[in-house]
Amino acid sequence: MNDYISRVLENTEKKNSCEPEYLQAVREVLCSVEHLVERHPEYEKLAILERMVEPERIITFRVPYVNDKGEVVVNRGFRVQFSSLIGPYKGGLRFHPTVNQSIMKFLGFEQIFKNALTGLPIGGGKGGSDFDPKGKSDNEIMRFCQSFMTELYRHIGHDVDVPAGDIGVGGREIGYLFGQYKRIKDAYEGGVLTGKSICYGGSLGRTEATGYGLIFFTREMLKTKNESFNGKTVTISGSGNVAIYACEKAQEYGAKVVAMSDSSGCIYDPKGIDLPLIKQIKEVKRGRIKEYLNTHPEAEYTERVNEDSPIWNIKTDIALPCATQNEVTLNSAKKLVSNGVMAVSEGANMPCTQEATDYFLEHGILVGPAKAANAGGVATSAIEMTQNSMRYYYTFDEVVSKLDCIMVNIFNACKENAKKYGCEGNYVAGANLAAFEKLAEAMKCQGVV
Ligand code: NDP
Repeated sequence: MNDYISRVLENTEKKNSCEPEYLQAVREVLCSVEHLVERHPEYEKLAILERMVEPERIITFRVPYVNDKGEVVVNRGFRVQFSSLIGPYKGGLRFHPTVNQSIMKFLGFEQIFKNALTGLPIGGGKGGSDFDPKGKSDNEIMRFCQSFMTELYRHIGHDVDVPAGDIGVGGREIGYLFGQYKRIKDAYEGGVLTGKSICYGGSLGRTEATGYGLIFFTREMLKTKNESFNGKTVTISGSGNVAIYACEKAQEYGAKVVAMSDSSGCIYDPKGIDLPLIKQIKEVKRGRIKEYLNTHPEAEYTERVNEDSPIWNIKTDIALPCATQNEVTLNSAKKLVSNGVMAVSEGANMPCTQEATDYFLEHGILVGPAKAANAGGVATSAIEMTQNSMRYYYTFDEVVSKLDCIMVNIFNACKENAKKYGCEGNYVAGANLAAFEKLAEAMKCQGVV
């Protein structure tokens, strides 16, 4: 490996030794930009890599609230403002008990590159809390969101930092967060949050955007092998926002989605997933995926017993991991390949371990990397910001056609950069190279800041 890259990696590992997910994300990017760094000796003089791996700012704060039993509960809040090089910090908020600084930093780091790939003027950030929304009443969720925003509001703004949703943060939470922000600021700053409901400034198509975008990107990848979704078997992990709308668009393209999951286990329905039922269970009732069997007793349910999700044991043509980080291990990758998978496209952030990704690439499997394949969500968030600034609305079809166009451009950037740097067909490297070059050039233009 190039000396400069190994020195930066070594220092980053020393400084962040307790942050495994963050180091995994940094390693993945730096190890794939070697040819680019070698063509640009000025990167070392300007400390481009060192600046790329150091967040501009990390904010942590206390989030106290009173639960329904009258007890005071304290959680930790985060906002990592990673890079404002090409626009205001932009990235979602995650509410999940596993949230910690390492996960926030890995997500923020990935976000800078993802946002650069969209071609839109948005920087990178991420935030959230170790709060667990599962089993909480609406009132508890509201009080928590209000407390979270009572601190966060001083760090965000439509030209400064624009949060959105992620795991555990959907339309309901964004509504409570927005209401509290508006109350504190006494001003209607619509573009301060995205993922808002349509009735107060959201964008049509934002709910569907990440899942649809994933399918558009994967469609482009399949085209390179003269393939399409039509008639293919698909498995999708997760049953949240990304998974549900990936399923919807894949079904529309003629694929048969046979399995979906949640953190407890997966369902397998060889007749094809009944998506309206999944939406009812997950979006309306906020229930468990196992409840699918109440309506379809002939489907199978397999409980998850270890880190290897049972969904990856199911034979499929296309696998779409849409739940969480590191959910596709090397074991799962081997199982998928031996069952004849042709494409793996990442709806979640960093769902494949590095070993799993390497295994897929070594076996000629098409891999859609998260920072490109799931960029449709943030791209549509930027379209929501545009509409808020214009005080105007696009129709659903207008938004989806802009999204489709953006996803095709992202795919082409990955493809061309992979070719330019001698790794044709490797869209993982292509995505990193395209985004890194854009950011490095912006850093050069803006001086040492
Ligand atoms: P949701 O909260 O809507 O859904 C998350 C889904 O993943 C749920 O089915 C959940 O199951 C499952 N899940 C969560 N944690 C785990 C875990 N540790 N093991 C197994 N399953 C788990 O989140 P989203 O759909 O919004 O996000 C999913 C992924 O997509 C995340 O990686 C997110 O960062 C990424 N992403 C999301 C974007 C968006 O626009 N929403 C944009 C780009 C990326 P359960 O119900 O049991 O918790």
